[in-house]
Amino acid sequence: MNDCVFCKIAAGEIPAHKVYEDDQVIAFLDIAHFTKGHTLIIPKSHYSSLLDTPDEVLAKIAVLTKDLATNYKPILRADGFTVKQNNGEVAGQEVMHYHVHLIPHYEGDKFKFAVQHKEQKVDLEKLANDLRGE
Ligand code: AMP
Ligand code: ZN
Repeated sequence: MNDCVFCKIAAGEIPAHKVYEDDQVIAFLDIAHFTKGHTLIIPKSHYSSLLDTPDEVLAKIAVLTKDLATNYKPILRADGFTVKQNNGEVAGQEVMHYHVHLIPHYEGDKFKFAVQHKEQKVDLEKLANDLRGE
């Protein structure tokens, strides 16, 4: 994918502040962070979304995300973290190369992603039945 910014980072054609790299994956700091330590974890191969990414790559990235978060707690003194992953423009995906956001949180950062709809107008029982295929 010659116009993909994350493929260029994977190929070393443009710089990134890398925190981890091996032959399959790279983790690097987001250029416009939500919070200090906001990290992106990507496969080196181009897959556009969660649905296109092979299971073994997803598993590797999930474990790397956990390992990074484990290290970040003491290094950054993070009090918690969000793992976020957007698929499709409507979901806020801007770079169409599968990636996971690891976003540390700090006491008092008051960082919230979205307003949750507490007053549901959806029949949850029917919806769950539909989703189970019943
Ligand atoms: P998303 O909206 O899920 O597609 O997230 C894309 C993320 O990539 C955004 O948070 C951007 O700030 C980040 N980003 C885009 N270009 C670069 C880059 N060259 N280096 C680091 N992060 C980048
Ligand atoms: Zn790519």
